[in-house]
Amino acid sequence: MLIMFELLLGPSAAHDNFGTALTWVLWWPIIPILFLFLGRFWCAICPFATINDLVQKFVGNNRPVPKFLKKYGIWIIDALFIFVTWSDHVWGVVENPLGSGLLLLTLTTGVVASGAFFERRTFCRYVCFLGGLSGNYARNGILQLRGTPEICSTCTVAACFKGTDKAQPCPLFEFPKTMTSSANCNICASCVKNCPNDSTQLTLRAPSKELWFIRKPKLEEAFLSAVIMGIVFVQNVTMLETWPSLLHMLEKAVGTTSYYVTFSISFLISMIIPIGLLGLASWVAQKFNGETLEMNFTRFGYALIVLDMAGHMAHNLFHLLAEGKAIIFTGLAFFGQGSGHGLSTALMEPAVIQALQFGLVGLGLLGSLYTAYRIAKANYSQEKFLGTFAPFAVLMVILGFVNFYLFVLPMAMRM
Ligand code: SF4
Ligand code: SF4
Repeated sequence: MLIMFELLLGPSAAHDNFGTALTWVLWWPIIPILFLFLGRFWCAICPFATINDLVQKFVGNNRPVPKFLKKYGIWIIDALFIFVTWSDHVWGVVENPLGSGLLLLTLTTGVVASGAFFERRTFCRYVCFLGGLSGNYARNGILQLRGTPEICSTCTVAACFKGTDKAQPCPLFEFPKTMTSSANCNICASCVKNCPNDSTQLTLRAPSKELWFIRKPKLEEAFLSAVIMGIVFVQNVTMLETWPSLLHMLEKAVGTTSYYVTFSISFLISMIIPIGLLGLASWVAQKFNGETLEMNFTRFGYALIVLDMAGHMAHNLFHLLAEGKAIIFTGLAFFGQGSGHGLSTALMEPAVIQALQFGLVGLGLLGSLYTAYRIAKANYSQEKFLGTFAPFAVLMVILGFVNFYLFVLPMAMRM
């Protein structure tokens, strides 16, 4: 509420607004780090999910999830993610406190409507674009909750899924007995309280391990991982100090100064690069492994998640470490204690931040390469392995180097 109040009614300049600093300099950069160490735990404490639960408690109809949401949920999330990023650039969301406030209001409207009509956390599982991102990243995380197969196999109560008087049913419609992915587990521990047999276990695993053995890969999830890569590219490119001159060149080439047009073209190119390259690698790999292009795209799209996450973290590290003091300055101004105007917002030297960014992208590249290697190993015979793995390895290296290159170029501050 404090953040919403400040965003909607506070200072109109982003660098003076405490809500902007808390949202985009603190929360947004920290969230991918949380996904790595705590899986989707953010969703257990997310204020929007809490609003959903409160509305449901008092006026909820608890209707079942509509079939089209179950069928197309991730595609809806893909489309929303693309739309939110596009609208951020053309209408201003991050750099405009009112825009950020309106985004949060829209999310609030969505969760209120969902909580009033549908059961459990329908919005979080099937509509929220942040939920889609968290789901993908949680697969790469080091924490997993699962039922113990020997105990669950003889269980007939399914208390974890249905709920008991001790705790609510699984809010994200998961069933620990058969759960093989952490994408939709927010580690809320309701199933731990509900299970009469102490079956559920929280364990650590190697980062990216879940991605090595995806049993039923889904095209929409692989597509989301390529989309996230494109979004990280566009976020980086539009923050470059050379972005205005690139934009000017594009304006000349297309003959219009309309930002709607020029940004949409740049955005489209940024999306097409990772999607097109993944498609190209899949086309080459299918010649060697005999599977369809779609199956190759779907299987190996998951390997991009590691590099996605690293690129996302590296990009956000800039905001957290180069603009971090803005949280203190705007916070002091919010409480009427000066504004810190004219002082540097940096917590670290640019060279140190850049070294950390390179380190992260390097780890992400190695992680994606290893994940592609494990996927190829798990699904193809010795004869087909090399021809399958090689095109995806080249793809990861190209995308890794694009990321490296973007972090070499100087970036403009937001705060
Ligand atoms: S987690 Fe517990 S309640 Fe759920 S299926 Fe396994 S034993 Fe049954
Ligand atoms: S109830 Fe269990 S399976 Fe469902 S989200 Fe919570 S911790 Fe995960």
